[in-house]
Amino acid sequence: MNQHILIVGGGYVGLYTALRLQRKLHRELRSGEVRVTIIDPQSYMTYQPFLPEAAAGNLSPRHMVAPLRRVLPKVHILNGTVTKVDHAERTVTFQPAEGEPRQVAYDVIVMAAGSISRTLPIPGLTDIGIGFKTVGEAIALRNRVLHLLDVAESADDPEVRRRALTFVVVGAGFAGVEALAELEDMAKHSTRYYRNIGPSDLRWVLVEATDRVLPEVGPEMGRWTLEQLRERGIDVRLKTRLESCEGGHVVLSDGAEFDAETLVWTAGVKPSTVVGDSDLPLDERGRIKATAMLTVAGTQGAFAAGDAAGVPDVTDPGKYCAPNAQHAVRQAKVLADNVVRYLRGQELVQYRHKYVGSVAGLGLHQGVANVYGVKLRGFPAWFMHRTYHLSRVPTLNRKVRVVVDWTLALFFKRETISLGEMEHPRDGFRAAVATTRR
Ligand SMILES: Cc1cc2nc3c(=O)[nH]c(=O)nc-3n(C[C@H](O)[C@H](O)[C@H](O)COP(=O)(O)OP(=O)(O)OC[C@H]3O[C@@H](n4cnc5c(N)ncnc54)[C@H](O)[C@@H]3O)c2cc1C
Repeated sequence: MNQHILIVGGGYVGLYTALRLQRKLHRELRSGEVRVTIIDPQSYMTYQPFLPEAAAGNLSPRHMVAPLRRVLPKVHILNGTVTKVDHAERTVTFQPAEGEPRQVAYDVIVMAAGSISRTLPIPGLTDIGIGFKTVGEAIALRNRVLHLLDVAESADDPEVRRRALTFVVVGAGFAGVEALAELEDMAKHSTRYYRNIGPSDLRWVLVEATDRVLPEVGPEMGRWTLEQLRERGIDVRLKTRLESCEGGHVVLSDGAEFDAETLVWTAGVKPSTVVGDSDLPLDERGRIKATAMLTVAGTQGAFAAGDAAGVPDVTDPGKYCAPNAQHAVRQAKVLADNVVRYLRGQELVQYRHKYVGSVAGLGLHQGVANVYGVKLRGFPAWFMHRTYHLSRVPTLNRKVRVVVDWTLALFFKRETISLGEMEHPRDGFRAAVATTRR
């Protein structure tokens, strides 16, 4: 058949689709009849639900990513970005990590480019704002929080201290609540090593435009989570919007104004930009218009799933599947099977999965869960959160490494060092060069 399957994005959908294609088409891949390529700027898949644990230092960042080349030996991995999809011509424009852009031809395309932070034109957002979707962001945030404790400890000026110790998170979904809860827990724990900072000196503010937190676990458990966060001293402001944060001066719609050094933006996601730079049909929310068979509506040879696609939820007619890993992993399986069926001229099947609820970690030994109607809170939910994600993280190698990280954490105190200097490795050398006399 001599077919080239191109997968745009090596995240959840991309990795799991390729893994299944590698298995189902092993004969064709060996004979060269079929080629599979993944294009992604990174050479690894990020297991995003572990980002909060990596930010808190419970997990090594290297253990929450799956190296694509090692896991997918039969697949060609290209590092760079797809900047344009011309499905009419069956080509994409590929911008490699270095060098000139070039065209890559394909027979079948799988759009798996996921999502990026959905931001608003809020004055000052780029001054102090940071997202929470990548390993880089999670680790930079960890370093930043710990560095700001160092700054506050060493400062005389109470204003500098207050500003350094004020952390704002905007958006109370999965990412926002888990990031805030884990980082707050870590920062509180770290204060024991400082002479001039106690837990009550830290100010964590959670800003949410709607009237609830963590909708993923349902209203009852969402209310419980809200109480928990407030009991921990977190200033949760519902029905409140961020108006501006110019130069770190935060202004909220409820009239509150204060200074902060750190603002984490987790108020929703939108499809990756390549989705708009394609000739594929989009839905009203700018996602790729997909069918229940995970094909792109009205096209041949194009498939889409995950956060970048609007996939009809056949278990709840009229609605779309939510952008989460639960759907992404299951969609990838059906998508890969449908690609194989398409190549063999067989009838495609529908994607059908009823959302079963969620688990969320809220710091060490704390969690909340609502899965298959079973509601858990505190330690049992946290335990379920860990076992569930351990079962889901790809490859046995990663699972073992994650268990080792967690086991070590049982016996040793957490690491609370800021390695922010790793983000500027050449500063010291540059300073040395600057002092060298000619
Ligand atoms: C902090 C956090 C916690 C979460 N926790 C949970 C949870 O507990 N449970 C749950 O179900 N879901 C959770 N999610 C959501 C879940 O991670 C996403 O829904 C899932 O990753 C979507 O999979 P995807 O394959 O569509 O996108 P991704 O996994 O994001 O993969 C997209 C890939 O496409 C690549 N890409 C983007 N643009 C291009 C381009 N132009 N060219 C080439 N490659 C490109 C990206 O680099 C990325 O590797 C969480 C998300 C976050 C951020």
